Amino acid sequence: MLLQAGVIFFTAVVPLAAQGIPPNPTPAHANPSPLADTEALSREALVWLAQLIQINTTNPPGNEQAAAKYIAGILEKEGITPEILEVAPGRSAVVARLRSSAISNPSRALLLVAHMDVVGVERARWTVDPFGALMKDGYIYGRGALDDKSMLAANLAAIIALKRSSARLNRDVIFLATDDEEAGGDASIRPLIAKNWDKFAAGYALNEGGEVISKGGKVQYVAVQASEKVSVNVAVIAKGPSGHAAIPTKDNAVVHLAAAVAKIGAYSAPVHFNTVVRRYFEGLAAVSDDEIAKWMHSLETTDRGEHAQRVISDANPQWASMMRDSIAPTLLSAGVRANVIPGEARAMLNIRLLPGDTIDVLLGALSKLVNDPHVRFEVQPNAGLAAPTSSLESDFYAVITKVVSQEFGGAPVLPYQSPWATDSSQLRLHNVQAYGLWPFPVTDEDLARMHGDDERLSVASFNKGVETLLHIVSDFAVTK
Ligand SMILES: [Zn+2]
Repeated sequence: MLLQAGVIFFTAVVPLAAQGIPPNPTPAHANPSPLADTEALSREALVWLAQLIQINTTNPPGNEQAAAKYIAGILEKEGITPEILEVAPGRSAVVARLRSSAISNPSRALLLVAHMDVVGVERARWTVDPFGALMKDGYIYGRGALDDKSMLAANLAAIIALKRSSARLNRDVIFLATDDEEAGGDASIRPLIAKNWDKFAAGYALNEGGEVISKGGKVQYVAVQASEKVSVNVAVIAKGPSGHAAIPTKDNAVVHLAAAVAKIGAYSAPVHFNTVVRRYFEGLAAVSDDEIAKWMHSLETTDRGEHAQRVISDANPQWASMMRDSIAPTLLSAGVRANVIPGEARAMLNIRLLPGDTIDVLLGALSKLVNDPHVRFEVQPNAGLAAPTSSLESDFYAVITKVVSQEFGGAPVLPYQSPWATDSSQLRLHNVQAYGLWPFPVTDEDLARMHGDDERLSVASFNKGVETLLHIVSDFAVTK
């Protein structure tokens, strides 16, 4: 079955050999240490990345099963037994385990997570085929080159290196490729955990979500995600009498909605700091220019705090979002005819709450602000759940910090609360100390292409990331 899928796959894709990527990588030789030949391993992993990009897993619909079969085929060839877990029709996850002993101890196990699905593309805005895995100027281009197929290939490389070297493990290492991460819907990690938790239960996890930020060819800092904001969609609904557009009245629902959205758009929720955000800004101040650093240090001072929060928020919209609940109006709908005043107008707000905050408190503030009996708020189903922050004192966090600092020339390592959501919140809700780190050095410019056009990753960064991830995993899971 798997072999057959492989054959179909190889004939269906753009030939990689034409771009200098061998379609069948030569495996790195079996070595006594998993770290003995990371260069050869990275070359192999680059082929896996290219081939994963060529499997279109745009979500929706996802169709992750094709990627799952491809990954399972690679693992089987290495003598690692994969299990494909069907989450929904055509949508699967893959799990595989290297055992440290006959009896598993889930609380010690390390889970390597990456998702197989990607967000859609606006094809006309790309200068290359988004699913071609084209190599150009030292970069590999394609949807998923950053998010998250690079991590998927690196995780695969890590578990394969451990297997080939017959490393003596002090804990189980589990590989997990998830589906439906980008939509977080009915095939996401939530139902996967509900049905199959025993197959990948772990005490620690490494996932996407944090970054190695590079500037002028040098790593400036590394942000390790330990916490994330919580996504909640809220409909704003204005009602009024419908009627003939030739005779306007003051209670037109469109006008009331527009006024409400304008007020909400200008609103800035109060700032709250937790340990992660506090330590993030402290660390970042050390590598920022003097002027910004001064304000970062002043964020919680009584006399200059408020001003500092404004300066920092204005300097970078991501910083603004890290400190407070954020609200982005994203959808608008009203009306059926140009000459009919509609009885209802709706907007959608995508809200990202700080982990400790509740939607009721925020909506209380927004109701007061809007102050309009024609307008009401309706919380939509499938809101994210706030998860506890992963510990900044755990053994695993210490290993990540140590290795990453070594790998990137002593760059500061900061804990990070991401404005976006990842699969890690579901893991944290199951007592996993989950940390987010794309181990590949990227510039802000490349990072902006994530979910955007011409997504790409430099091959040098990819190689460095594979090596870094393998160092982290070896340091934490291999008996010395
Ligand atoms: Zn992602």
